[in-house]
Amino acid sequence: MACKMCENQKNIYQDPYFIMELQTGYVILGWFQRFKGYTVFNCKEHGPELYDLERNFKVSS
Ligand SMILES: [Zn+2]
Repeated sequence: MACKMCENQKNIYQDPYFIMELQTGYVILGWFQRFKGYTVFNCKEHGPELYDLERNFKVSS
């Protein structure tokens, strides 16, 4: 199931807020900087909640 977060990952390297890619997701500077340096982690695996992922979650390649 695709969602806006998953769709954004298709062009993540063009995102001016993109910081780095990790094995399981992407680190992005928060669009809204209520707190200086606020960052977001976007998981490569779609799920409604983090606790829906397997405990030993790894991205299949
Ligand atoms: Zn998604």
